[in-house]
Amino acid sequence: MLALVKTDPGPGLELREVPMPVVGINDVLIRVHKTGICGTDLHIESWDPWAARTIAPPLVVGHEFVGEIAEVGANVAGFAPGDLVSGEGHVVCGRCRHCLAGRRELCARSIGLGVGRDGAFAEYVVLPMSNVWSHWRGVNEEVAAIFDPFGNAVHTALAFPVLGEDVLVSGAGPIGLMATAVARHAGARHVVVSEPNAYRRSLAIKMGATLAIDPRERALPDVFDELDMVEGFDIALEMSGVPAALQAAIAAMAHGGGVAILGIPTEEIALDVNAIVFKMLTLRGIYGREMYETWYKMTVMLQSGLDITPAITHRFGFREYEAAFAAARSGDSGKVVMDWTS
Ligand code: NAD
Ligand code: ZN
Repeated sequence: MLALVKTDPGPGLELREVPMPVVGINDVLIRVHKTGICGTDLHIESWDPWAARTIAPPLVVGHEFVGEIAEVGANVAGFAPGDLVSGEGHVVCGRCRHCLAGRRELCARSIGLGVGRDGAFAEYVVLPMSNVWSHWRGVNEEVAAIFDPFGNAVHTALAFPVLGEDVLVSGAGPIGLMATAVARHAGARHVVVSEPNAYRRSLAIKMGATLAIDPRERALPDVFDELDMVEGFDIALEMSGVPAALQAAIAAMAHGGGVAILGIPTEEIALDVNAIVFKMLTLRGIYGREMYETWYKMTVMLQSGLDITPAITHRFGFREYEAAFAAARSGDSGKVVMDWTS
């Protein structure tokens, strides 16, 4: 089969023939239809310091996908060839305290699809059946392809109850964009998006943001009067990984607020602990998705009218992967999807 492979330590990816993945007795083999490009894939492609210490080539990259089941292992029940599925990209150990208690998202030994094991930028991918999510008939396949980052957005946006609250979203990358729509769908009063990139600010408005501001031009407290906000934000979703964004969010929180942190910074961040203490804030780190409550919530929110399609802005065939990666890297894009069926 053809796959996008990190062949050696160093920049670049290669589209090449690789052996079909081996299907174990508990595994499901999936013919990939569509994939989404994630920031993680860009890190692996460019071979940054994180990739250099994390990735052991050769590796098939990619973890956001939708496809059709081609074959199931001897032990597999509940899945059949032809089913349309996506995969949870964190393969957990199944044996630790948290896994045994059913809190699989807290597993400290999880292995990432396309990071620690061969991934989904390929014609076929294999996953344990416990990592496979069945879609309903009629799901939009492009949306299904990005359930993994959509799940990051849902898990973060629902980390604190947003109904009636004023929500700040810092960073309107694909995940911040989807979180904006989720917060809106879940009943937030105002969703203010802070994002320096103008293309992404205009997408944020399409996703339902009340306001989209450029943090270089406008400080957060500057919007309070305009939006009838008394004290500050009730909830902040940190989706940029940028130190100044987290610091500005904490400074703009109301008493008792919640800050859900998804963005991954590349450096340590100094925080105003006095503000955290005296405003009695809750800071919560978010990694991945809840298995599988987040997947359930994604499904039912789509079925009840949530629309995340404006966050998908670019489409390529897999042979045009270089152009696809360039579009994702440019910043003037939302989610970039590659098709593996042509
Ligand atoms: P992205 O890099 O596309 O988006 C980040 C956005 O933040 C960009 O649009 C950028 O212009 C914006 N930004 C830069 N400076 C800013 C500032 N001062 N204030 C506000 N915004 C600013 O990333 P993404 O794919 O949408 O992912 C969002 C973040 O979540 C990234 O940091 C990513 O590494 C991280 N992530 C975490 C998990 C997890 O499980 N915790 C999973 C996936 C991604
Ligand atoms: Zn575990």
